[in-house]
Amino acid sequence: LAAQIIDGKAVAERVRRKVGEDATALRAGGVAPGLAVVLVGEDPASAVYVRNKAKAARECGIEAFDHKHDATISEADLLALVQRLNSDPAVDGILVQLPLPKHINAQKVLESIDPMKDVDGFHPENVGRLASGMPRFVPCTPLGCMTLLAEVETVLTGARALVIGRSNIVGKPMAQLLLQKDCTVTVAHSRTRDLADEISRADIVVAAVGKIDTVRGEWVKPGAVVIDVGMNRKPDGKLCGDVEFAAAAERARAITPVPGGVGPMTIAMLLANTVQSARRRLK
Ligand code: NAP
Repeated sequence: LAAQIIDGKAVAERVRRKVGEDATALRAGGVAPGLAVVLVGEDPASAVYVRNKAKAARECGIEAFDHKHDATISEADLLALVQRLNSDPAVDGILVQLPLPKHINAQKVLESIDPMKDVDGFHPENVGRLASGMPRFVPCTPLGCMTLLAEVETVLTGARALVIGRSNIVGKPMAQLLLQKDCTVTVAHSRTRDLADEISRADIVVAAVGKIDTVRGEWVKPGAVVIDVGMNRKPDGKLCGDVEFAAAAERARAITPVPGGVGPMTIAMLLANTVQSARRRLK
């Protein structure tokens, strides 16, 4: 392979060690950082995510408060729980795992989280702050992607960056972050006319679609940096991204694998956001 493979696991490990040091320092100052993790329903993938987040938090010296509820919980009861967490001084970060059951308005729940404890960065106030160049909490996955770009010393100023996908969780905040770093940003989505052409001009490609082989290797500009956010299951059950990895790695300068690329960074950045929030209590 021509490309440098970006080791997200190793970078995430480094971020988590730093978070652990920060948590220790906070505790020495009398502040035990706390993360509340709210899970509603039985979705197996969500259950795994939540368990991993809580476990990773504890390993870094962050208190994790688990709140598991049946899918039958009412919207009112869930909103009441969020209010309790908002006013609980031991809680620095509140994470409500998505998706929520259909009878609950997820946007309403996200908006009920205290923006100062919104470590996922999904509250409209934090979304607006990011878009206005005054970021507070930045969504964890795009933040992790920026860290990986820095890891391979990607020149951002003036670079043509293509973000594929425009979700609130990944695509849109990713585009904002790249724009802030002076990239010339294009956002592609399902209605984009000629994706191959967009990809072939991009110095940086961030793929966040959720479809196997959305980015064909032959489309990648030689020397580009490719960040693959996608998480897909192949028919044989193996995990893969949105990028045709082997072919893209022949042309790219650096590329993230799946698994072991962006995935581990998301949790690491969540922990980093949580200690950032806890630091406010010291002041
Ligand atoms: P999403 O909300 O489903 O958004 C997917 C985006 O892809 C949409 O904007 C959609 O366009 C666009 N799209 C669909 N088909 C396309 C095509 N053929 N060409 C170009 N764009 C296309 O997904 P998401 O939440 O952003 O997640 C994206 C992927 O990242 C998923 O595989 C998810 O599992 C993964 N993910 C990974 C992590 C991690 O930690 N590694 C974190 C979050 C998400 P429209 O807007 O036009 O529909």
